[in-house]
Amino acid sequence: MNVRILGYSGGYPGAGIPTSGYLLSFNRTNILIDCGSGVLCELIKYIPFECLDAVIVTHLHHDHTSDLRVLRYALDMKSKNGQAIRPIPLYVPHNPASLFAEYDENALLPVSVIDERLVLSIAGATISFHPSVHSVECYGIRVEYNTSIFTYSSDSSLDIQSFSYLRDADLAILDCGGLEKNEKTDKKHMSPGDCFRLFSEFGIKRVVLSHLIPYHDVSDTIAEASSFGDWPYEVAEMGRNYIME
Ligand SMILES: [Zn+2]
Repeated sequence: MNVRILGYSGGYPGAGIPTSGYLLSFNRTNILIDCGSGVLCELIKYIPFECLDAVIVTHLHHDHTSDLRVLRYALDMKSKNGQAIRPIPLYVPHNPASLFAEYDENALLPVSVIDERLVLSIAGATISFHPSVHSVECYGIRVEYNTSIFTYSSDSSLDIQSFSYLRDADLAILDCGGLEKNEKTDKKHMSPGDCFRLFSEFGIKRVVLSHLIPYHDVSDTIAEASSFGDWPYEVAEMGRNYIME
């Protein structure tokens, strides 16, 4: 199983850095997790978009959804141009209902609703969904494939109990859109210290600090993370591919 970073900006894109998007691949299966602004442009460096086997959108904030419409339009264009397009299942939360309505009822991206009872079995992997603490309905993801565990927090503030699904993960991509020094104004996202706490609590083997806000200086994120000593964290980088045995 491997996961490639297609975008990690939080809120809006940075120069050459799309907002959230991750390509999860295992057993000749490709799943796009989140589809933010600019993600499609990155995705097609690695696979044709029509070869996706599923798209999972963790919540309906625009920095996680904005290229969904572009993807739908692209599939429609190719279909109308005579190419046989296989429908790609799209998994999204039901709320906010007004935003959900934008994605409902499309033959090329047929929608299924995510909730905490949903467990997907796809090509030998088990994918489960875990409510996060965010301003809209939002889910973290745990993927188990063979002996590997991949987890993704999506957007969340720190609520230790809600994060038990991170336990023993080989890789956790975590929302690190906050900084300790902005603590009072920036609690919708986690700080490097919050991510360190999750690492310590749940025995995560490797942490990627992601959802980085473009107006933050990444050196502040690194300084806060490194103040906790030597722990296995990395700051997200475009195109970086993480392989889990
Ligand atoms: Zn969000």
